[in-house]
Amino acid sequence: MSQKFAAVKGMNDLLPPQIETWQFLERTARELFGTWGYSEVRTPILEDTGLFVRSVGEVTDIVSKEMYTFTDKGDRSVTMRPENTAPAVRAYIEHGFAQQPVTRWYYLGPMFRYERMKTGRYRQFYQLGAEAYGSQDASQDVENIALAWHFLKAVGVQHVTLHLNSLGDAADRPKYLEALKAHFAPHLATFSDAAKDTFERNTMRLLDTKEEALKPLIESAPRVGDFLGEAAAKHFDEVKALLTTLGIPFVIDPKLVRGLDYYTRTTFEFIYEPPGGDNALGTAGTVCGGGRYDNLVKELGGPEKPAVGFAMGLDRLVLLLESLGKRPERRPLLFLATMDGELKAHAVKLVTELRTQGLFVDFDPRGGKIKRQVERASTLKARYFGVYGEQEHQSRTLKLKAMDLPDGDPNKEVQVGLDTLADWLRAR
Ligand code: AMP
Repeated sequence: MSQKFAAVKGMNDLLPPQIETWQFLERTARELFGTWGYSEVRTPILEDTGLFVRSVGEVTDIVSKEMYTFTDKGDRSVTMRPENTAPAVRAYIEHGFAQQPVTRWYYLGPMFRYERMKTGRYRQFYQLGAEAYGSQDASQDVENIALAWHFLKAVGVQHVTLHLNSLGDAADRPKYLEALKAHFAPHLATFSDAAKDTFERNTMRLLDTKEEALKPLIESAPRVGDFLGEAAAKHFDEVKALLTTLGIPFVIDPKLVRGLDYYTRTTFEFIYEPPGGDNALGTAGTVCGGGRYDNLVKELGGPEKPAVGFAMGLDRLVLLLESLGKRPERRPLLFLATMDGELKAHAVKLVTELRTQGLFVDFDPRGGKIKRQVERASTLKARYFGVYGEQEHQSRTLKLKAMDLPDGDPNKEVQVGLDTLADWLRAR
């Protein structure tokens, strides 16, 4: 008896033809991030559970509800990474990079969170992130933000707005939390159980909640920006000024606190906000989130090293680009129909030679009727079609037909000598 399986809920297969969009994003990222001085790192999927508890924070949604955690055969508690900032910091310290003055890294890979699923929110999803360690200067924040901005532009995403805030330094936090608690406390009786829990465990995150009933209270809540110490306030002013100098527009978003514990000073998000409200991402409009985390390296046992970084959700970018019809096309330049028998070997040899020269040339291994091979060529959207028959073999010339070139006559045939075929195709 056979048995059929389906993918685990929340885990997606990434398949052709959408994979072209994925690969386009990945190619562009590697090229652009390299140009900006960021080198790739690949950390393992499994990490010590304690790493995330300590860095992301015990009372965050990620750690308290969403982690894929299990005990391995060696009786260790391990977790499938829900994010890559903490693993990168772990590697940065473990391998001695923290001894260097400045380090810039990027990563690209799957993350795992047991989340409630909806459009743009999955349990295995892909993040592209960039982290810069070693400087607290505003120019480092802005460089990191500018990288995200230019990447989004380079891949053709429009209508994203940069939301910006500063959470101040760790020393500024207690006063703000006190004010926030005083603001919400008189209304606690009207709160949902979830909101009460957030109030108790991570008050600042109340600003992030989407509960309708809380909206007016959130609107009137004290602003973290009014509680910044002198140093953090100056730093935030410098960040804003430099963004303006670089021509990167932003809006100040005092409610932007982000869900993770390790942020200090700058926090930012890029949110997809198309005019007219027709939003391919539904309510999952945040395509990128990041900020400064000046204490995390020290918290995880390294030296004093300030850092800033972001993570971009690739699944959401793919959804967006697909909805805009921006999938890059991969079409064979030439489809070569083959005849059965000895001639087929010559045709396969020609296809192989052209392929080794970097040309996308295809054929149908099943061979068979020419009519069916034409159909196959047209399914693949090949640009040119030719038959490798006896006459072609003898004359060392192919008759090529343009399948659908907008400017060409579809019935017109051109004769191309086999010796010049590669050059001819390359020029198309
Ligand atoms: P975070 O690490 O939560 O700040 O997330 C950074 C970015 O990753 C978000 O802005 C999303 O674009 C993306 N992201 C986070 N969680 C998910 C998820 N469950 N599914 C898809 N994308 C996600």
